[in-house]
Amino acid sequence: MTEPEKYISIPRLKGFPWLVHGFGLAGLTLESLKKEKELASFLPVVMKQLHSSRVFYLENLPRKKLAGDGLVTTRAGLLLVVKTADCLPVLLLDEDHRAVAAVHCGWRSTYQKILAVAVDLLQRRCGSRVENLLAAFGPCIEKSCYEVGPEVREKFAEAGFETELIFSPSAREGRFYLDLREANRLLLTRELGLKPENIIQIDHCTFCQPQLYSYRRDRQKERRLINFIGVKKST
Ligand SMILES: [Zn+2]
Repeated sequence: MTEPEKYISIPRLKGFPWLVHGFGLAGLTLESLKKEKELASFLPVVMKQLHSSRVFYLENLPRKKLAGDGLVTTRAGLLLVVKTADCLPVLLLDEDHRAVAAVHCGWRSTYQKILAVAVDLLQRRCGSRVENLLAAFGPCIEKSCYEVGPEVREKFAEAGFETELIFSPSAREGRFYLDLREANRLLLTRELGLKPENIIQIDHCTFCQPQLYSYRRDRQKERRLINFIGVKKST
C-alpha cells in the first residue's frame, strides 16, 4: 500500500540536493510534517500572519514568535513555513548562495509588494542576484473563483499595478475577478527583474480542489495548508 501524497513538490526544485520544499495538501499539519524522514531534523519557523509586507531575515531560530508574512534565510536546518487557505504561497530560492524564502501573498500583502521586500532581503543579506532567483507559486484561489470589490482594485491601482492585466469585471455590477498569481508574477518579472522562465506555477485552485483548503469555500479558520522550504544541513 502506498501512502497518499501529503504535499506537492516541484520537479525542478527536487533537483537541488541541498533543498527541501513542499506545498501541503489538506491533512498535512506541523506535527505530521515532523514525521517526514527528510524533515525530522528541521526546526520549523511559523509566524503569526498579518496580511502585511513584513519579511524577516533569520540568522538563527527566532526566540519568540514573529508576526509577519515572509521569512528569508541561508541558515541550514530552519524550515520556513507559511500557512494558506486561498492566499498564494511563494517559495524563493537562490542556488548560488543556498538562500531560501517563504512568503504568504494574500491580496493585501500582494498590493503592498511583499515579494519586493523578500527579494530585497535576499539581495542585501544573502548576496543573491535577482537573475538567479527561482520562484515557485503554490496552489491558490484562481481568478475565476476570486471575486472582489472595487476597493481591492483601487488599492492595486494606487500601488501602481497595471490593473487591466490582473482584474476583469465579474457579472455583478462593480465587482471584479482578481488574478493573484498574475499580480505577483508581474511584480517579480516586470518590477523586480526575475526571469519569466524562473517562475514555476502550480495551477491548482484551492476553491475547486477538495484536497486543498479554501477559506472562501470552508469558512474554517483553523484549516490551513502548510507550505515550507529549507536548506538541509550538510552531512
Ligand atoms: Zn476555482
